[in-house]
Amino acid sequence: MAGYTIRLFPDPVLRQRSHEVEEIDGPLRKLAEDMIETMYEAPGLGLAAPQVGVQRRMFVYDVGDGPQAVVNPAIVEFSGEWNYSEGCLSIPGLYFDLTRPKEVLLRGVDLDGEELEIEADELLARCFQHEMDHLDGILVLERLEPEQRKEAMRELRRRALAADPATAALAAPPS
Ligand code: ZN
Repeated sequence: MAGYTIRLFPDPVLRQRSHEVEEIDGPLRKLAEDMIETMYEAPGLGLAAPQVGVQRRMFVYDVGDGPQAVVNPAIVEFSGEWNYSEGCLSIPGLYFDLTRPKEVLLRGVDLDGEELEIEADELLARCFQHEMDHLDGILVLERLEPEQRKEAMRELRRRALAADPATAALAAPPS
């Protein structure tokens, strides 16, 4: 059983910038373990700490080579362009065609405090960029073209309305 419920849009925790991790200790390792479990259960390719309500700069991922946690990550190089239909566990069921850099170089620290440097391409590079955004309080919605974004917001309002008419009416903009 996973320890966490994934926070969903429009939970305000998803819009806040997370804090640097100052110490890699037992509780942080346990958090990573629980996040990996939560990610597999979802299932998803990556999960950032704010998505489980923890404002710390750490994410976990597994694009097929086993799970890995990265603490205090930074993308230090970007190159190329790659289009991909990107989803987010905090915005379930929606996918967005989005072009981002194709290759990135990620630096960070692992759970043993060892420096990590990972060259990533395509899917892994996309995963890193998506999870980094979460640590800065940025959702994939903010990366969309204005028209694409309007359409996504319409769909999200439609869904909120179906789930809870009273709240959705309050959230809807005046028209
Ligand atoms: Zn996401």
